[in-house]
Amino acid sequence: MSIEISNITKSFDSFKALSNIDLKINTGELVALLGPSGSGKTTLLRIIAGLETSDQGSIIFDGEDNTGKSTQDRKVGFVFQHYALFKHMTVFENIAFGLKVRPSKLRPGKEAIEKKVHELLALVKMEELAKRYPAQLSGGQRQRIALARALAVEPKVLLLDEPFGALDAKVRKDLRRWLRKLHDEYPITSVFVTHDQEEALDVADRIVILNQGKIEQIGTPEEVYDNPANPFVYNFLGNVNLFHGRVHNGKIELGSLKLDAPEHTETADRNVVSYIRPHDMEISLEAGENGFIAANIIFIRAVGPIVNLEMKRIDTGEYIEAEISKEIYKKLMLKEKQTVYVKPKDFRVFIPEDY
Ligand code: ATP
Repeated sequence: MSIEISNITKSFDSFKALSNIDLKINTGELVALLGPSGSGKTTLLRIIAGLETSDQGSIIFDGEDNTGKSTQDRKVGFVFQHYALFKHMTVFENIAFGLKVRPSKLRPGKEAIEKKVHELLALVKMEELAKRYPAQLSGGQRQRIALARALAVEPKVLLLDEPFGALDAKVRKDLRRWLRKLHDEYPITSVFVTHDQEEALDVADRIVILNQGKIEQIGTPEEVYDNPANPFVYNFLGNVNLFHGRVHNGKIELGSLKLDAPEHTETADRNVVSYIRPHDMEISLEAGENGFIAANIIFIRAVGPIVNLEMKRIDTGEYIEAEISKEIYKKLMLKEKQTVYVKPKDFRVFIPEDY
């Protein structure tokens, strides 16, 4: 089922939680709503679910206006952060619950319910746990059961609000990969709320980046990561170094460093801010002919194949972060307190007046 969200606005008293949200979600797509705390993700999800009413705008499911419809009439399934499993019911009974409480003319027979529950247990790879109670499961297992329970009533749309938020980092990572695989097998239109950038980048077909109740950008993980629409998106999707400089004669001047302006940059003479990801920093031991920026290494973390360097610019005192390979780190024999020269391999430029 496709979802078309048009011009949705929602205020709580005088506080505007969502402003003019337009978003079209295609059938079978897994879309992540990503943004910092308070950006309006849950409010938007609740409006899609019919748990909250909007002040204006419409929600269309497959061409049919659902704006005023109740949650029960919307064919949506939910999974929340805190597993809402019934404690006194086994895993089997929890999954069967939604089918058993259906009005009698829609309720499947006992055998059909059993068959369905076993199919779902197989789908979430939990067959051997059917007889357990929620208290006898790990957090990750409970969330898989919560998902099976949501799927039991064959919703047309699945809404997930930080479903892995309460789990530890390793389990979260495993579960999001698992969810992605499950979605490939069982592609139900899904909207997934998260404030975790990595989770959204890992799981979603497309990401909607929200900030203060507005959409900053919509795109595939590659699009939003490689072509962030503005500094907010750039900052939000990963660590970034900021360099203040000027555009002049088609060059970006960052202190003593002069670089060719990237294609997207206007050439007018003006102040700019360059955004450079730590993995796009090149480190050398000598000042190059292009005038590399000199910095002192203040901290090295060399665990694993990627080495993180924290440096302080000698000219401005600003901090710079870089990520380099272990090979380069060993080759250059880097040490704390050493002076090195840094140069961006890739960067983006934004004009500060625009924001
Ligand atoms: P989080 O990641 O912290 O859950 P979120 O992006 O999901 O945040 P929402 O829960 O949608 O944000 O809230 C958006 C804003 O609306 C917040 O400032 C919140 O305080 C406010 N808000 C949400 N629900 C209500 C309510 N029922 N009454 C008043 N204000 C509300």
